[in-house]
Amino acid sequence: MRIDAITLFPEWLLEIERYGVVGRGLREGRLSLAAWNPRDYTTHPTRRVDDRPYGGGPGMVMQSAPLVATLDAVAHRRGDARPVPVLLMSPQGERFDQRWAEHLAEGSGFVLLCGRYEGIDQRFIDRYVDAEISAGDVVLSGGELPAMMIIDAVARLVDGVLGDARSAAQDSFADTILDHPHYTRPPGDAGDSVPDVLLSGDHAKIARWREKQALGRTWLRRPDLLDGIELDPRQQTLLAEFIGEYAERTPRS
Ligand code: SAH
Repeated sequence: MRIDAITLFPEWLLEIERYGVVGRGLREGRLSLAAWNPRDYTTHPTRRVDDRPYGGGPGMVMQSAPLVATLDAVAHRRGDARPVPVLLMSPQGERFDQRWAEHLAEGSGFVLLCGRYEGIDQRFIDRYVDAEISAGDVVLSGGELPAMMIIDAVARLVDGVLGDARSAAQDSFADTILDHPHYTRPPGDAGDSVPDVLLSGDHAKIARWREKQALGRTWLRRPDLLDGIELDPRQQTLLAEFIGEYAERTPRS
């Protein structure tokens, strides 16, 4: 898996190489990452890559030519037999989610394009961008954080990057539902105790409890996720149990 990012702040983006599971995955060569600065590919004497918007108004717009030249350099270096997707970070794009991460993790890599200022000349987008991806309904000052989010989410799905592949399989959204709650030592922390079942050593019971909590949390916090799936009879029983226990715990107003 090779990921290329086009950004005016390559040093910042490459900080991701120094930390956690992404850092380890890169050091172990399970994935590779390169950052490209369009300022290195402009012919402008002061390395300018933006200009005022046609039609007037505030802000600056990233020009097409330096981005085309950068993309050419990326394609040349990658030397892919088939071109990989070019993804523009954009608040107007499709919302990034675990399904996107899984889809990207299946391929041989991709190119992330980080906008700045008011954004990028539309003609570049029309010609070179395969998809626009959003980090959420919020406007950031640049695409670097969304790009780092994507790199992180995809990297942990690449074989061997996570120490224990089971962690990814158990995470929220892996099964389209949320993760169960987690507890660790000490057993009695500030008066709050750990659910007995987790200390029982009975693995079948623990698995059942976790699945019930995962279903219940999803029902409480993200019922929309349950609309998209069909629960099997066992899961339906677990969720019904959770709902019954929840109703008992929660006083009616
Ligand atoms: N004028 C643009 C916003 C530009 S923000 C608009 O209203 O749509 C500058 C850059 O930050 C964008 O080009 C994009 O690359 C990045 N960006 C900002 N918010 C983002 C978000 N929610 N998701 C992904 N990228 C974002």
